[in-house]
Amino acid sequence: AKNAGKNQVTVFDPDMRAARLEHSRLTTGLRHAISRQELTLNYQPVVDLNTGGITAVEALLRWNPTGDKPVRPDVFIPIAEETGLIIPIGLWVLEQACADARRWYEQYGVYVTVNVSGRQLRDESFSEAVLAVLRRHELPEQALVLEITESMLLATTSAETQRLISVLAKLREHGVRIALDDFGTGYSSLAYLRTLPVDILKIDRSFTTALTDVDHRQRTRAFTKAIVELSASLDLRTVVEGVESDDQASMLQQMGCPLAQGYLFSPPTPAARIDDFLRIAPWQ
Ligand code: C2E
Ligand code: CA
Ligand code: CA
Ligand code: CA
Repeated sequence: AKNAGKNQVTVFDPDMRAARLEHSRLTTGLRHAISRQELTLNYQPVVDLNTGGITAVEALLRWNPTGDKPVRPDVFIPIAEETGLIIPIGLWVLEQACADARRWYEQYGVYVTVNVSGRQLRDESFSEAVLAVLRRHELPEQALVLEITESMLLATTSAETQRLISVLAKLREHGVRIALDDFGTGYSSLAYLRTLPVDILKIDRSFTTALTDVDHRQRTRAFTKAIVELSASLDLRTVVEGVESDDQASMLQQMGCPLAQGYLFSPPTPAARIDDFLRIAPWQ
């Protein structure tokens, strides 16, 4: 109707309705995902650009609902965060990743990195839970890296941010390392780099893509090189994400970037393939 306000129009918007239905269908499905054994982890190698060897693997969660097509993490992770389901799901991820990492760490010194949500970090029992999982799997703390993003630290109050930072610092005292993920996508990256207790810096894929983009490559190369150098001078290990071409890889290597991740080396892949990679070790 002519006088219908914006709110009235949206209520009857069929697309919105469909989206809401889909959202609640996914929420219901996600509640049963663990018990129905629909969750799996894939692992993506983190490669040493100088030797070509695998240094680490990043655990990436996959959800295959029974009798339905897979749902992408960008879709179900936000739902898991909203509903709090990320707490049990996050624990499942840690358990599985540590179970797999044990043999990789023992035989090859390869560590595992696990993505952590803000909701998990805010949970009072988080650091105890992490340390308990490590003990249960008899995995040394050095074999685990937790990936956080600066956006998850944008908590309501600075007191809360301080509390989260102290949780990270405590884990770090125990030997669990922290990686700052998606670096360069936020607004306050440099400020966080100065104050956060981190060991590893993961430069976001948007930088890698722009390295070979005709319009931006000059500035992007200068910028990326500066971050790699800054990171090294702060004694952080630098990983560049989203490397898809040989050109990008050699450019990054020339800049002195030690580690990279991306489809050029391997997409995220089941644990059994990682076992194969490590056993065959073609780079040795
Ligand atoms: P992320 O942590 O930034 O993970 C990197 C994403 O980039 C992954 O998407 C990976 O498959 C993709 N990727 C890797 N190499 C390339 C490349 O060369 N080119 C391109 N175009 N993409 C590449 P994925 O697996 O779909 O995960 C998306 C996001 O979901 C992750 O982003 C992470 O934020 C979240 N996520 C995944 N697993 C977990 C988890 O267990 N817990 C939590 N809290 N979040 C997770
Ligand atoms: Ca990550
Ligand atoms: Ca990332
Ligand atoms: Ca991300």
